Amino acid sequence: MESYELVILGGGLAGMCAAVEAGEKGAHVLLLEKQDELGGSTVLSSGYMAFTGTEMQEAAGIVDSNQSLLDDLIEVGGGVNDPSLLTFYAENQLETYKWLTGHGIEFRSLEAVSGHSVPRGHIIDPHQAIQTLYKRVKQLPNVTIRLCAPAKRLLKNGEGRIDRVLYELEGTEQTVEATKGVVIASGGFAKDESLLEQFAPHLKGALRIGGSGNHGDGIKMAWEHGAWVSDLPYLNGTYGFHPSTSGAVKTQGLAFYKGGIMVNQLGRRFVNESISYKLLGKAAFNQPDKITYQVWDQTVMDKSVADDPLYDLELLRRRRLLYMADSLEELADCIDVPLEVLEETISRYNQGIQTGEDPDFGRKTLTHNYGKPTPIEKAPFYAFESTVAMLATYAGVAVNSAAEVLNPFGEPIPGLYAAGEVTGGFHGAGYMTGSSLGKAAVFGRVAAARALSPIKV
Ligand SMILES: Cc1cc2nc3c(=O)[nH]c(=O)nc-3n(C[C@H](O)[C@H](O)[C@H](O)COP(=O)(O)OP(=O)(O)OC[C@H]3O[C@@H](n4cnc5c(N)ncnc54)[C@H](O)[C@@H]3O)c2cc1C
Repeated sequence: MESYELVILGGGLAGMCAAVEAGEKGAHVLLLEKQDELGGSTVLSSGYMAFTGTEMQEAAGIVDSNQSLLDDLIEVGGGVNDPSLLTFYAENQLETYKWLTGHGIEFRSLEAVSGHSVPRGHIIDPHQAIQTLYKRVKQLPNVTIRLCAPAKRLLKNGEGRIDRVLYELEGTEQTVEATKGVVIASGGFAKDESLLEQFAPHLKGALRIGGSGNHGDGIKMAWEHGAWVSDLPYLNGTYGFHPSTSGAVKTQGLAFYKGGIMVNQLGRRFVNESISYKLLGKAAFNQPDKITYQVWDQTVMDKSVADDPLYDLELLRRRRLLYMADSLEELADCIDVPLEVLEETISRYNQGIQTGEDPDFGRKTLTHNYGKPTPIEKAPFYAFESTVAMLATYAGVAVNSAAEVLNPFGEPIPGLYAAGEVTGGFHGAGYMTGSSLGKAAVFGRVAAARALSPIKV
């Protein structure tokens, strides 16, 4: 039987960070990837990572702190997320940002998105990130990556320690020994209809976007050995995708975080647009026929950010996915909502901005605690039909801050570690943009380090 010190399941950001971390510590490592290429959901993502205290924030004159990041993570998660994971993240994220930049991963810009009180969404090109980590792995002779090698089951020894992985290679079953530990980094289950039907029946009809290998394999393997789960009651989709989104073309726009509003087919607002887009997704899915539009004016359009995965509103126009009209009358006609209701919706919203009090939904900011809404008054006006996508499950096996997988009694399952989207407990009821890639990198590294050198948490 082959033997390694560490066996990592999955080659997305969490798995690749774990592989580089362990490899640089000199460990003998095997990474198994189910698909014929690395990257998982990571390479489909918008590339936002939530960090604070970076030189990019400093250069932009942004005042932020670990405490403010922590407060936002707790608030946006509705206080049901695990404070020990969040505290660990807040205290260690900057070191991982530096580790990533030190390894050649490029951060190109900074924006405020869901759950941010200041701009802290640092954007990477996720392909560049995965390729850069892969190049590093290739320099490490002690790390082996095997593609088309899905892990099937975890096996434990007589003392109850997970010490082997059963996997498939070229149609045959293989067993590999993991003397120091197994790290599950196999992502979520956004592509698994049976798990979604079981845990998120309310998301029937939501778009499905995500890594094609993301079927919850790691969660099932950990369950078999008694892993507990967290955050499953809070599964929700993400708002802001055009209904035509499919395959590689992900057409998303978040005009609402730049000052747009959301209306339903009746022409009415239905939510405070500054909250987490995971909660916006929940609200949008409850609207008549699940049809909603983002509506904005030229003032918001002028805030379009070229080449930004979430804020390039001009790109939506170039793709001819926007309705554009010189008057509200024309816009209402285009999207088939009652003109008098749309006019009254916008007039009440604009008055609320003037008086400082949104009478209907209490909106005070653009996103979370950041930015000031502006009235919707400057022609031309725009509408973007938007829907909900299940793109990341953000729920899964329970872990502690040493990335040890826990049983229902909060005790570590010996030899078993997990990091990235396969884990629960971090996001809670809402979602901060950038926290999923952020936690994948931070806890991917932690999982490797702790497996090689365990400490008591
Ligand atoms: C469209 C989109 C936009 C997003 N934007 C952002 C964003 O801007 N910021 C952010 O923080 N998050 C974002 N996310 C979420 C984020 O991309 C993921 O949560 C994150 O990439 C998860 O990283 P991971 O390494 O845990 O999993 P993944 O990157 O999904 O990698 C898991 C890997 O494990 C492999 N695998 C699965 N089962 C097995 C098995 N049995 N054996 C071996 N390998 C297996 C998979 O094939 C995959 O390669 C977005 C997601 C999507 C889809």
